[in-house]
Amino acid sequence: MAATILFAALALPSLAGAATPARIVYGSLVRRGPVTELRFIVQGRAPRLALSAHGTELWIDLAGTRVDIPPRPFFGRESAPVAMVRAMNRGAMGSRIVVEVSGRTDYAIARLPHEILLRLAPAGEVANLAAPILLRTSNQGVATPGNAAPLVRASRPVARASPIGSRPAAEMSSADPAFVRPPEPELSRAPLADNPLVMIDPGHGGYDPGTHSASGTDEKTLALEIARRVKSALEARGVRAELTRTGDYFVSLPQRTRLANQAGAKLFVSIHLNSSPDTATSGLEVFYLNNTTDRATIRLARMENQGVANGYGPVTDAGLNYILADLRQSYKATESAALARMIDAEAVADLDEHLGIKVHALGARKGPFYVLVGANMPAVLVECGFLTNPAEAARLASARYQQILADGIAGAIVHFLSADAAVGNL
Ligand SMILES: [Zn+2]
Repeated sequence: MAATILFAALALPSLAGAATPARIVYGSLVRRGPVTELRFIVQGRAPRLALSAHGTELWIDLAGTRVDIPPRPFFGRESAPVAMVRAMNRGAMGSRIVVEVSGRTDYAIARLPHEILLRLAPAGEVANLAAPILLRTSNQGVATPGNAAPLVRASRPVARASPIGSRPAAEMSSADPAFVRPPEPELSRAPLADNPLVMIDPGHGGYDPGTHSASGTDEKTLALEIARRVKSALEARGVRAELTRTGDYFVSLPQRTRLANQAGAKLFVSIHLNSSPDTATSGLEVFYLNNTTDRATIRLARMENQGVANGYGPVTDAGLNYILADLRQSYKATESAALARMIDAEAVADLDEHLGIKVHALGARKGPFYVLVGANMPAVLVECGFLTNPAEAARLASARYQQILADGIAGAIVHFLSADAAVGNL
């Protein structure tokens, strides 16, 4: 007994030394038009974010971290959509920041090396709310494969100037006089703990060409080109990736998720090109599996579902509804929706940033797509753009556009896997 106590007494100081907690020492709240931006500066390395939504509250749980800011750090300065911010220490549980909102609110959050950054806006008011912080957390100087021009990814700092009409910054500092505000280096990416595999699925193939552009380029060809680039872009970021098809041959839809399940993939990302009766329609949309009443989506899903051929029997809407009802319990809907939002936001932000054009972010949407049925992991279908829009079809065929798009998709996947950025709504 005495020996045990002695051992504990000797061991404790070194254990405590090894687990010196990170500290949140500074917070700021800045209004920029409809956007409220919250920043929390961390002394020590910022912890991973564990997010959860509770009604009108977003809880940000920070393991191994203390808050050294007041319990109501922005007391009296909060304004819609932010109703209240609370910071609390939870002993061995670390700490928690609670952001309470009023009304439907979109948010984007990122973990930088020494900072947690959160942007909030009334739902639907700010297109691509996440863009500034997703671009800041992307890797620099990623090697690019093939004949694409290498991209130097400029970090675009969030504008410092407050636009006219915005409120002045409400800031508070740590009482610690030794605290020096840290610089803002890019996030140096530690290898992901469990060496995850991502299965990339180039749509169609062989006798199933998918849709096509007016100039005659098939969806199956562009989907494979983009998928190959996504695979390389993931590998350049240290993430393993495989393709469900590597050439121009037919793979049935059930076989695609079966390959992902058998390989133990952590994510399934299917790559497609869109079509619309309206040749002016353009943009990028990302689907996750569910029923929908949206007629354009139902029409699109009918076209994409033609490659079933075997495995689930005849392709009928009734049959698909049955499968969806059956699978709703096991499909990772919440994670899939989060991944879809990340890909849509980051890919479009990258394209806008590098090409100086406005690509429509059509959003993360529900759709009854067979190819996502049966996936044991979060699974999404990326419609990269509309081949029926001549201008977008020409862009999608260019190596540079494909590469930026692939880098954006890969960046979003890495953010999702490393849990250092998230977008969502309350
Ligand atoms: Zn397709």
